[in-house]
Amino acid sequence: MNEKRDIYLDNSATTRCFPEVADLMTGLFLEDYGNPSAMHHRGVTAERRIAGARKILAGILKVKEKNICFTSCGTESDNLAIIGGAMAMQRKGRHLITTVIEHPAVLEAMKYLEVQGFEITRLGVDRDGLVSPEEVAAAVRPDTILVSVMHTNNIIGAVEPVEEIGKAVKAANPDTLFHVDAVQGFGKAQIFPRRMNIDLLSVSGHKIHGPKGTGFLYIADGVRLVPLMHGGGQQGGLRSGTENVPGIAGMALAAQMLYKNIDADREKLFAMKNRLIERLGAVPDIVFNGRTDETAAPHILSVRVRGVRAEVLLHALEDKGVFVSAGSACSSNHPRPSETLKAIGVPSAEIENSVRISLSVMNTMEDVDAAADAVIEVVPFLRKFGVFCSLGG
Ligand code: PLP
Repeated sequence: MNEKRDIYLDNSATTRCFPEVADLMTGLFLEDYGNPSAMHHRGVTAERRIAGARKILAGILKVKEKNICFTSCGTESDNLAIIGGAMAMQRKGRHLITTVIEHPAVLEAMKYLEVQGFEITRLGVDRDGLVSPEEVAAAVRPDTILVSVMHTNNIIGAVEPVEEIGKAVKAANPDTLFHVDAVQGFGKAQIFPRRMNIDLLSVSGHKIHGPKGTGFLYIADGVRLVPLMHGGGQQGGLRSGTENVPGIAGMALAAQMLYKNIDADREKLFAMKNRLIERLGAVPDIVFNGRTDETAAPHILSVRVRGVRAEVLLHALEDKGVFVSAGSACSSNHPRPSETLKAIGVPSAEIENSVRISLSVMNTMEDVDAAADAVIEVVPFLRKFGVFCSLGG
């Protein structure tokens, strides 16, 4: 039997921890395991770890350390920003703006607010998945309390003009909060909330080679949020619950490692993505959803393989040790047609033909070539024989 190495190209779903992160965390689980709220030496050591992580993350964003609130994931960061922000601002107004291509962590939080009596405007996007800053500005009203637009779309990798949107929001209503879901953008792009008029920025640890169960929310000075978690008053009462010290330290180390090499890594990711575009683009009836130039994210490629259902392609590739995701589903547990693909005008009959290939710095050009070989090999068979085809491994 051939020994096959896994070629993991589903890095927008989650990433493998950097070994350095896993090593650091193991030490913290086994040795520096104190509760950061404890007054004894072990507690103080744990508290120092959190302070160190805060310093690293604040340094990357060029913000103050006190602006970082640790959470359990990107979803919690989004919920705290949107629901916590709306609850705190509701005396000023009850109108929020978002886009139709946001992650469910934003869309469902907005839906929850709608049920509570808030009014939500959901803006569309152009054929590249881009939100227009002018449209955002035109939708802002005196009672608009929060605008939420993602940095990088998780399905097609569209990078939104958040700096222009931030400017437009503040020009239309300086009191409106601007929230950016940067779960797919952080670690891949330079993001400076203060320069970009971003009041709230969501990040997740497991998308950046850090551990699952970690995330943070940047909260600008003067922004008030109503907490979602009530308890012992940790993190200034904004997010009660004993801090996940190993996770927080691990996430900060992962971020530090990524930002140390960000320019070279972006180049490497684009080189791998461009190779995929070149090789897969030569296959008849394969097209790409969204932009393929370097204004898009370096790590996400949405590939539409006409005549082949994504799930079938995904499993045929899995047989060859290549892991990608069905680009039409926003959540694999509850597959439903992707709002993003619909919004950019992918014909409904072709929405189910899309897979998402997502790269990380842990991938190599050999991975990409092997994945392209696998797609090129399986697609003609799948087109001919569909689900019944067996390729023998
Ligand atoms: N926002 C975006 C854009 C995402 O891609 C994801 C995860 O896929 C999330 C939010 C949710 O992050 P988490 O899995 O950490 O809750």
